[in-house]
Amino acid sequence: MCVCFLSLKYTHIFPPPCNPLTPPSLSLQWEEISVMDERNTPMRTYQVCNVMEASQNNWLRTRHIARDGAQRVYIEIKFTLRDCNSLPGVPGTCKETFNMFYYESNNANLWFIKESQYIKIDTIAADESFTQVDVGDRVMKLNTEVRDISNLSKKGFYLAFQDLGACIALVSVRVFYKKCPLTVLNLAQFPDTVTGGDSALVEVRGLCVNASEEFEAPRMYCSADGGWLVPIGRCVCKPGYEEQKDFCQPCRPGSYKASATDAYCTKCPPHSSSHLERASECVCEKGFHRAETDPRSMACTRPPSAPENTISTVNETCVTLEWSPPRDTGGRGDITYSLRCRKCSGDDVKCAPCGSGVHFVPRQFGLSVAMVMVTDLQPHSNYSFTIESLNGVSDLSPTPRGAVMVNVTTSQTVSVVLKERRSKDSITLAWQGPDRPNGAIVEYEVIYYEKNQREQNYTVLKTRSNVMTVDGLKPGTTYVFRVRARTEGGYGNYGGEIELETTHFYVVLSFTACFPQGRLLTSRSVSLLSSFASLSLSLSLSLSLFLSPIFPLSPPSLPSLCLSPVKLPGSKTYIHPHTYEDPNQAVRDFAKEIDASSIRIERVIGAGEFGEVCSGRLRLQGKREIYVAIKSLKAGYSDKQRRDFLSEASIMGQFDHPNIIRLEGVVTRCKPVMIITEFMENGSLDTFLKKHDGQFTVIQLVGMLRGIASGMKYLSDMSYVHRDLAARNILVNSNLVCKVSDFGLSRVLEDDPEAAYTTRGGKIPIRWTSPEAIAYRKFTSASDVWSYGIVMWEVVSYGERPYWEMSNQDVIKAIDEGYRLPAPMDCPVVLHQLMLDCWEKGRSERPKFGQIVTTLDKLIRNPARLRELANSTHCQIQNKLLELVSGLVSTVEEWLEAIKMGQYKENFSSAGYVTLDSVLYITISELIKMDVTLAGHQKKILSSVQSLQTQGTHVQV
Ligand code: AMP
Repeated sequence: MCVCFLSLKYTHIFPPPCNPLTPPSLSLQWEEISVMDERNTPMRTYQVCNVMEASQNNWLRTRHIARDGAQRVYIEIKFTLRDCNSLPGVPGTCKETFNMFYYESNNANLWFIKESQYIKIDTIAADESFTQVDVGDRVMKLNTEVRDISNLSKKGFYLAFQDLGACIALVSVRVFYKKCPLTVLNLAQFPDTVTGGDSALVEVRGLCVNASEEFEAPRMYCSADGGWLVPIGRCVCKPGYEEQKDFCQPCRPGSYKASATDAYCTKCPPHSSSHLERASECVCEKGFHRAETDPRSMACTRPPSAPENTISTVNETCVTLEWSPPRDTGGRGDITYSLRCRKCSGDDVKCAPCGSGVHFVPRQFGLSVAMVMVTDLQPHSNYSFTIESLNGVSDLSPTPRGAVMVNVTTSQTVSVVLKERRSKDSITLAWQGPDRPNGAIVEYEVIYYEKNQREQNYTVLKTRSNVMTVDGLKPGTTYVFRVRARTEGGYGNYGGEIELETTHFYVVLSFTACFPQGRLLTSRSVSLLSSFASLSLSLSLSLSLFLSPIFPLSPPSLPSLCLSPVKLPGSKTYIHPHTYEDPNQAVRDFAKEIDASSIRIERVIGAGEFGEVCSGRLRLQGKREIYVAIKSLKAGYSDKQRRDFLSEASIMGQFDHPNIIRLEGVVTRCKPVMIITEFMENGSLDTFLKKHDGQFTVIQLVGMLRGIASGMKYLSDMSYVHRDLAARNILVNSNLVCKVSDFGLSRVLEDDPEAAYTTRGGKIPIRWTSPEAIAYRKFTSASDVWSYGIVMWEVVSYGERPYWEMSNQDVIKAIDEGYRLPAPMDCPVVLHQLMLDCWEKGRSERPKFGQIVTTLDKLIRNPARLRELANSTHCQIQNKLLELVSGLVSTVEEWLEAIKMGQYKENFSSAGYVTLDSVLYITISELIKMDVTLAGHQKKILSSVQSLQTQGTHVQV
């Protein structure tokens, strides 16, 4: 606060003023008298003391006092007053008070103001009156009184003092107002501000100090008593300046401040500098750059060096180019590669761009992997490829890019499709000629040899036709065949190797140099082929297309070359029903047709995607009656629905394992179409576990897990990837044997209520799915292992929902950040460790199903290892407790629901446990009294209570 005195004068009374005085007002009775104060300094007073006469009305008035913009002014008066009793012989009219008035006016020269025009400020009485006028003896008592007047609005005012018969000496009158002083706060300057009238606050807008700018409009309030209140908003130093108490000082050379919101100047990042003061960014050294999107705090970087160690593999008209990343990345992590292709004629003198006929897989520009496959090149041609390595600053650099050149020469394309018919001693092969032959085909060459005798003994046969029967073979012997075509241009390369045994099966195999030409590629051939080192990369790519039906690339349109499908003897490889041109054939091959009359449907047990699921009995001729589950296809189905429905049977029918649901057969010849499987008395595992919460020993749980792992091992051995492994898709029979089920082709997409759309489209059961499968649909047995880890968690937590109520997006984020599900309650360390192994980010780090089975077998044989429980045993419960603490759970009922013990609500309330506080010290014997007899349930409740106590948490009610 600061105080400003207003000009006010009584010419003869007051010390010299700051401003010229207005003429004094007249007073007939008040006298101006000089007296000495206690320091013997003369002082002037106005006095009146007509106490002996009645009816006094003596006025003393100031001149006009300019208001100076103040709305409220304070008047401080100093005066002495005689005690009437001390004056001998005074009549009763003697007064010991006087009145103070004011009159507001714009006129500074009023010579007369009527009494009635004044407004009374107050009647002033002395705190201390005195009895003797004897300044020398220090008995005179000086009184000080302060009064204020508000809401002044005119140019000024007059003050007046009315005496009604007292003995007064006015020693001083000071008139002042208050101001909020100039101040700087939050880099904003607030000016001197006169306080408001009454007690109103005056809102003042601050001005940003030099080199600063508004971050949020700065404001403050000036209070009636001259103090600043409630600072709002602030200014911040502009780029290139930093805050230094109340001002902004420039950044020193060598430092910078990029944004106004940064607090301080910081040192220039590597490979940059600032030579002048107040730099808002540092300039990159020569040869270094900063991309537009690079933060100013990032080091300047430079383009990468050229790719290294290029390897080209020419496969006829395909070229695979591989290289190592550049030695110098330029300091960045955003390396990509781009290719330029030029076709050269003659002796490489004349090269021209390849044009749009050539294709690059995965792409030509912006490659993030150091490999590309170039297809559709012209046979017998020379090409020159330039591989450039680029990063975010390559475009900013004037120097030539890091690039390397590779020259290749293509050869003749031979694309061979083989069909085969076998007898005991002969094999008939048929094939299709190359897709784009380099001239007319003159003949084909077939080379074959007995497996394992490659070098020693092979036979070459030639034919103009594209069918050949090779006779004179040994029965039951495996032969390897390869075929190549010859045109006028010469021989092409051999197609892939095909192993065939002299048996009665009829196989269709397809191989192409670049992409498969046939749709039906048996998995048998896949496994055989992929074992040959000579197989080109292009072929392995084509294989992966078959193995991963939703690989982002789609093969070129394929001519239909399918013959009968096969299941090779002893084959342990799963055949995808889509490899059949006629899906009904797949059903015929893998599922037994059952006569509807041998089935007796008894009751509905569930609902599937295509219709009801019932239980019933099946009596096949010559066999005992068995319980079965019957899935039927509801009426009004489309062809596709029928195909999808039956696809489950053609998949299931290929499996034969105690932990895989067994297909008994199908009914397709009459309606409704049905799939008959073995009956699993206890239904799906998730519901079963929830129903029997806490009721199994850990060995029983491990037994169930072992069964599931064993079934999955069988599936992965057959190269079958399940994609939707979850407790809800495991069925349990009356002996607690768990079997993997749910194999329909559309199951993940349509059937699973847990499946959610991902950003890349397609539905995926997020909580059960590995990160790489979610991110780029890399479904493998290793992603099934991830899901298996989640199933383990579901089993040990008795059907708890993985990640509880977290949203799918949060689950994805948490997993990416390294979060993994904590051990469920009472979970042995070894089991949680196994779960964590299954949830390794790198899929190759995860255990194989075979290893999981072995681990679980060892635990079953040596259960002592299951005794040590994981530290975070109560994590799950604690999470729930957090809900409690945060007030989400406020009653005993809600608490029991939260820990999944809702079935005991009645027991608790009838035993008198009605508030959460009352359960804090519950004991096991009290639980038993309440009929909570299952050990698992007792444990769950007590550990929940225990955690409450140990957290020292006060339960909010
Ligand atoms: P689905 O849609 O094929 O998974 O079947 C729906 C429901 O039917 C399942 O969740 C099970 O409860 C029940 N179910 C399916 N197959 C069987 C089976 N073989 N034995 C017992 N219940 C089954």
